[in-house]
Amino acid sequence: VQIDALTEEYFSSGTVRGLPNKLFIDGNWISAISGEEIETIDPGLGNVFAKVSAAQTEDVELAVNAASKAFKEVWKDFKPSKRGEILAKAADLLEQQSDLFAVVEALDTGKPLAEAQGDVSSSVGALRYYAGCADKIQGDSFPLGDGVFSFSSVEAVGVTAHIIPWNYPLATTIRGVAPALAAGCTAVVKPAEQTPLSALMLAKIFEEAGLPAGVYNVITGTGKNAGSPLVDHPKVQHITFTGSVGTGTLVMQAAARNISSVTLELGGKSPIVALADCDLEKTAEGVLWAIFYNAGQICSAGSRLIVERSIHRKLVEKVVEKTTQLQAGHGLRNTNYGAINSKEQLDKIDSFVQRAKSRGIKCLCGGHPISNEATGKGWFYAPTIMDDVPMGDELVQEEIFGPVLSVQVVDSVEQAGEAANCTDFALAAGVYTQDITHALKLAHEIDSGQVTINDYWAGGIEVPFGGNRKSGIGREKGLEALSNYCTTKSITMSFS
Ligand code: NAD
Repeated sequence: VQIDALTEEYFSSGTVRGLPNKLFIDGNWISAISGEEIETIDPGLGNVFAKVSAAQTEDVELAVNAASKAFKEVWKDFKPSKRGEILAKAADLLEQQSDLFAVVEALDTGKPLAEAQGDVSSSVGALRYYAGCADKIQGDSFPLGDGVFSFSSVEAVGVTAHIIPWNYPLATTIRGVAPALAAGCTAVVKPAEQTPLSALMLAKIFEEAGLPAGVYNVITGTGKNAGSPLVDHPKVQHITFTGSVGTGTLVMQAAARNISSVTLELGGKSPIVALADCDLEKTAEGVLWAIFYNAGQICSAGSRLIVERSIHRKLVEKVVEKTTQLQAGHGLRNTNYGAINSKEQLDKIDSFVQRAKSRGIKCLCGGHPISNEATGKGWFYAPTIMDDVPMGDELVQEEIFGPVLSVQVVDSVEQAGEAANCTDFALAAGVYTQDITHALKLAHEIDSGQVTINDYWAGGIEVPFGGNRKSGIGREKGLEALSNYCTTKSITMSFS
């Protein structure tokens, strides 16, 4: 793929063709009141390739007021089946424009085009799934006797705020916004400053699908200037936040000030347990992509391999062999291993690895930044495997959010369960074994929001997703996500 040709086709004057680099508030494209802009960088080249408006408190005020007005006057009592029709139309439009979305997402994040295409198609699926839910949100009735009748009405909570990280900009936006809109809530989205484009492009899709003005608003800008006033706004009733534990803590404090509810999708240090009887080839392939998909910049990346001693050498050799065959490169070239999203993140990853080496931890492959072979530019980190890491080491305990796998060696199924639970995180886990009893025993014992068996990335929009302990609060995806955006009102009436 010719990067220059594609960028020329899709971009002009510092923005995606046809996309105003403005905020989307109340159905209008408007510049931030301050007139300030922020740049977004292609991590595969390290170049600025687009600019967006930088919202501040006064822009947030406009967006939340628009969302509040649209909620009260239009969306909350909009016919539910019509809400579903609009979301379904948006899914069709997104599908039609999937090439454009995938290219922009690959450039904004640094991920390989094939991965970005996967993000777009799963986003189309999520929109369709929640389109189908819009007219199936219903209450219950309660037998009380004595001439008293009681029933419940499930209602939308109101204005919802969505704070998005940089690793899955489109998919995370849709994951929160689709159930919110299906339930009758309105939304204000604050994408990550590193990857603001797809949330804006989605505004054009919703506009074309017939979504009323004010129902979906986007304020681009920094966490400090745009995210913080948004989550602190008293008219926001629910905050869906995906990001780091530190920022999640600030978000929860803001929610506490306003007594608004939160869904927090935070970090992870997810284990993959490989028992002695596992299928070595399948396990090695599973481990490879569990940690190196999106260059490890995934909250639920399988960043710890917990392996039984008897297969330790054989399995690790296989994973190393596969790792050395990964093709690093710009996302729009024929590559299966992309860039790190920012220089800051690249340096953070490297500092974890260099500290570990200085503590004497053995590095089996990678362990250093690499330059893009074709251009010599961009931010890439060699896929890295660190062997036999002690349980208390920071490589086991801390989220690196990059392509670094830490191997932990154990001597029994029981030890594997203990090792899996040895961090403060509890987001995802994988188990590879051919013994169903061991698989279910570990699935039961591992403290985690989700456990997959013999296929690390198995799952779909139908399956609830979220973390326990430091990995977060609440669940997204599945029917369960709708409850984030609904409140139950009971209505009780006497006939006597
Ligand atoms: P981050 O916390 O730095 O930023 C996330 C978002 O919060 C950005 O949009 C940022 O602008 C905004 N923000 C920053 N300060 C804010 C504030 N004071 N108030 C409101 N918003 C603020 O996280 P990141 O570096 O973008 O993403 C990486 C982290 O996200 C990792 O820890 C990763 O595990 C986590 N993550 C979790 C999931 C999940 O589903 N559990 C998915 C993706 C990423």
